[in-house]
Formats: sequence, C-alpha cells, structure tokens
Amino acid sequence: MTANDTIYALSSGGLPAGVAVIRISGPAAFPAALSLAGSLPAPRQAALKTIRTRNGLMIDRGLVLIFPGPTSFTGEDCVEIHVHGGKAVVNALLTELSMFDACRLAEHGEFSRRALENGKMDLVEVEGLADLISAETEMQRRLALEHAAGGLSDIYNGWADRLTRVRALIEAELDFADEDDVPGSVSDIVWADMQRLHSELSDHLKGADLGEIIRDGLKVVIAGPPNAGKSSLMNALAKREVAIVTDIAGTTRDVLHVDLNIEGYAVKLYDTAGLRETDEIIEREGIRRALKTVADADLVLSLAEIGDRPQLDFPGFSGKIVTLGTKSDLYPDQGSKEYDVLISSETGVGLSELHQFLRNDLKDRSESLSLALPSRLRHRTLLSESLAAVAAALASEDRGLDIRAEYLRQAATSLGRITGRVDVEDLLDVIFSEFCIGK
Ligand code: GDP
Repeated sequence: MTANDTIYALSSGGLPAGVAVIRISGPAAFPAALSLAGSLPAPRQAALKTIRTRNGLMIDRGLVLIFPGPTSFTGEDCVEIHVHGGKAVVNALLTELSMFDACRLAEHGEFSRRALENGKMDLVEVEGLADLISAETEMQRRLALEHAAGGLSDIYNGWADRLTRVRALIEAELDFADEDDVPGSVSDIVWADMQRLHSELSDHLKGADLGEIIRDGLKVVIAGPPNAGKSSLMNALAKREVAIVTDIAGTTRDVLHVDLNIEGYAVKLYDTAGLRETDEIIEREGIRRALKTVADADLVLSLAEIGDRPQLDFPGFSGKIVTLGTKSDLYPDQGSKEYDVLISSETGVGLSELHQFLRNDLKDRSESLSLALPSRLRHRTLLSESLAAVAAALASEDRGLDIRAEYLRQAATSLGRITGRVDVEDLLDVIFSEFCIGK
C-alpha cells in the first residue's frame, strides 16, 4: 500500500438508497473512469454514461464527473460516479474498480488525509469537516462549518504571521544594535503589539468552554437523594423510558444519559444514583460515579421532594445549580420559594419552565457569539502553551532580546501545531480515525 495508490470508496450513506456516489482519487482515476464509462465528460460537468465492466457487461447507467488535480477535493485527479444505490450495483462497481492496477479501497478519512497532505485543507479545517459530518444540532453544524471553512485557521495564521514579523523586527534590532544611525528602538512597537496579542489569545481561550459545550453538549446532571424523582424527570425530559423508575430507593446505580436538542444546542442529560450513605457495595460504586459525573457537569439540577431541602453544594462542582422541588402534583398548595422551579414529572407541570431555564443558561453562555471558537482539548492545550510563551516573553524584560524572541518562536510553534503548519505527524492517525470511509 502506498500513497501513490488510487483509492476508491462509496462516499454516500448506507445502502440501499436512491443514489450511491462512488469517489475515486489518484493517478489511475481517469483511466479507470474512461474504461468504465467509454469516454470522459468535460471537467466538473456531469454526463450520463453507461458503466460497463472491462468485458463490456453493463453494470448500470449513471452520472460521471471528473475533477482534474490540483483543483479537486484531494488535490489529485478525482472522479465521482453516481449510480443507483443498490447493494449489488455498488458491489459490482467496487469489484470492477479493484481490478485496476494500484487501485484499492480507501481507508478511514483517506480522501481528507490526501487533501491535507496536498495542502488543500489544514488540520483545523479537517477536524471541522469531521465535525460537520457528525453534527446533529444546528449549533454543532454552525461551529463545524466555521472551522471547516477556515474561520478559525485564519485567526491562528494571522497570529502566527504577527509573531514572525515581530521576531524579524527583533532580529533586525539585534543585528543593528551597535549602529548609531538606526532609528529609535523597535521595542516599543513590538511589545505593545505582543501585549495586544496576549489579550486576544486569552479572550479567545475563554471561548473554549463554549466551543466544547457546543461540540460535545452541555452536561446537565440530575442529582439528589434516592426517590426524589430523578429517573422520572429524566424520562419526562427525554419523552421516553430510559431510566428504571421504581419506589425502591437505590434503583439507579449507574449513570445513564440521553442526548437532548434544546434550541439547536446539544444537551447531555445525566441521571445519577441517589446520593445517600450506604454500605451496599454496588450502590456505593454508583454514588462514587454520580459524584464524579457531578464534578464534571456544566449545570446541576438538584432535586428534592417538596418539603425537603435541596442539596446546594456538591464536592468538586462550582458551577450553576438549579433547584427543583419535585412531585408538585402531591403538594398542590406549596409555594415555590425554596426552589427555582416546582415540577411534576407525573403531570408535566413545570417542565416547560425547566426547559426555559436550560435555554436561558445556554443563551447566557453564548452572548456575543462568534463561532470562531476552539472546540477541542487539543486546541485548548496548544493555545494555553502559546499564551504562556507570549506571557513569558513579555515578562522577561530583564533578559536578552534573543531569549524573548525564543519565547515568541515557541508561541508561534504551538499555534502552528493547531493548524498543522508545524509537524503533527503523530496526531494524524488519531484525527483521521474519526472519519468514515469515503471521506
Ligand atoms: P429517583 O430515585 O430519584 O430516581 O426517583 P424515581 O424517579 O425512581 O421516583 C421515585 C418514586 O416517586 C416513584 O414511585 C415515582 O413514581 C414517584 N414519582 C416521581 N416523580 C413523581 C411525580 O412528579 N409525581 C408523583 N406523584 N410521583 C412521582
């Protein structure tokens, strides 16, 4: 297997389907298409062709498109063949393609990997494309599109270029330091700009929480003592039975979760084991996991049956808590002073108010929303490294200019690793394994 192989794959979804798109990329793409279709259409224009085996047997009729490299998705010669989406049709076509020399089935993400290697996309754009394909909510789609379309990369490249310019100015200052006729020091300009870069980077990093929430979902944990009505609330919100509801305390021992879509935001709702003292070993493990889930949460719904006090602090959690008084159908005369919302999972009362709470929370988090946000731990880590290096350069006034310039070089290297401008070979296998075959 070599990078020079011509690769092919079914790029459209599961079969059977109305139409199936088979994509081919590499040096043998055009000769293979010519053999299959008898003649090639003009570049980027669809033409209806009869697709035949090399023995002249008809496989199907379908559209053929060719995209000459380097102005193609992968940067290589590419072909798309659109045939009827039957399993046997697609199998026959894939089998026929396997007969051509140096033609083989693509691996996961191999088309995108070639696009990256041929400079058609950078790493952030590739990640954005993977996210776009798996996006399920409107906000996930918008965030992924921003990344795939280069919005985030433009920011990082702009910063890296600024760092390069500044280092060049410092070099010049070092080279001409002894000469009397050099105009006033460039230092003032350089460090004022680096101060601005520092605050831009640090503002940008603040958006990482929101970026991760949009991409991975807002983690909302339902917590409270046994029998408070946690599983019933989970079921009511999920509108289906996901948790076992019983009146025997300690039924929910594991952490269950459902994905909700609230106003285009992904919300991951977790039901946890009831928090109480117990000697029962499995239940204790459930409680340990529940506390860990709470500590990782973005928001906690603290439940208590009306009349009981809701828990207001959880070990390791410092975020927002919404208190819910439950089973309001059993306490018709109760006011809501002690709780943010009164709910009854039985009758549905209070659930739309709770929905509103979640919606407002998401709105508060996403004020002045630009979607050029870091959305992965990888981005956050490298941005933090870059920020720390800029801070070190700014704070090293008493050290030589060469040392301060070295910090700025490190800052640019970290930014370059985000977009893949700087060596990232070790990362590529991990990133491309997220893709489906055919992308
Ligand atoms: P968990 O242990 O906190 O998960 O509590 P469950 O959801 O399993 O509920 C415990 C008991 O309270 C069950 O018998 C439920 O039917 C009951 N329950 C839960 N929510 C309500 C409610 O809104 N109204 C009434 N009347 N009963 C409820």
